[in-house]
Amino acid sequence: MPELPEVETTRRGLHPYLEGQRLARVHVRCGAFRRPLPADFAESVTARRIRELGRRGKYLLWHFEGGLVLLQHLGMSGRMAVFEGPPPAPSAHDHLDFETEKGVLLRYRDPRRFGLFAFAEAASLAAHPLLKAMGPEPLEAGFDGAALRARLGASRRPLKTALLDQHVVAGLGNIYVCESLYEAGLSPNRPAGSLGPKRAAKLAAAIQGVLGRAIEAGGSTLRDHAQPSGELGYFQHRFAVYDREGQPCPGCDCARGVRRLRQGGRSTFYCPKRQR
Ligand SMILES: [Zn+2]
Repeated sequence: MPELPEVETTRRGLHPYLEGQRLARVHVRCGAFRRPLPADFAESVTARRIRELGRRGKYLLWHFEGGLVLLQHLGMSGRMAVFEGPPPAPSAHDHLDFETEKGVLLRYRDPRRFGLFAFAEAASLAAHPLLKAMGPEPLEAGFDGAALRARLGASRRPLKTALLDQHVVAGLGNIYVCESLYEAGLSPNRPAGSLGPKRAAKLAAAIQGVLGRAIEAGGSTLRDHAQPSGELGYFQHRFAVYDREGQPCPGCDCARGVRRLRQGGRSTFYCPKRQR
């Protein structure tokens, strides 16, 4: 499932093809996503110039001239691909094609169709129902231990569960929450409201470090054009604990290695010795 680094890598990959460009054609093969695609979707975005491609949490924000903003969420399995030459024939999961005036094709593929597209107005973007209660951007100035503690409040729910909540911090999902908690040495089971200033500062720094390194890894895939499929935002990344049950955890001498537990229906990977 794409999290902040994958969405940011997608944004960086698409941006050069979209900034200042108009969409010449938009082809909708299927509009049955988490929410049905707006009826006037293709007409609304065709022939309008794109000022900027932004991001908020896990949402891509297509800013069009005139104040229209398209919010795009990749859901569980959505990905964008870029074809500068003739594109391959679309598969069953290639639902949307966006063709720029320079003839570059951007294709949206989403096998599980949990993605989402919605329109907003730039002037009231922050008040849009999908964005208004969203927590702080972890990579922007002002995100620190104090900001994190304010969002966690006095909650008794497990720290892992709280960090997955987009109202606490924007953009985190299962992978980067597991990695950040490991790096900060904090137990996923600890009550979210139990962090003192020092531990909260350590966790905020761990989140920033983990996300920053993942975005760097994603950036190198853009430079190398590593994806012959044209797909953006997915890359091999070495994780310390995520999906590594039973393997030794780096920098730790525990005998059993990385463990897995179920929290809120999701797998948490952690080390009980290192994480308290
Ligand atoms: Zn360990």
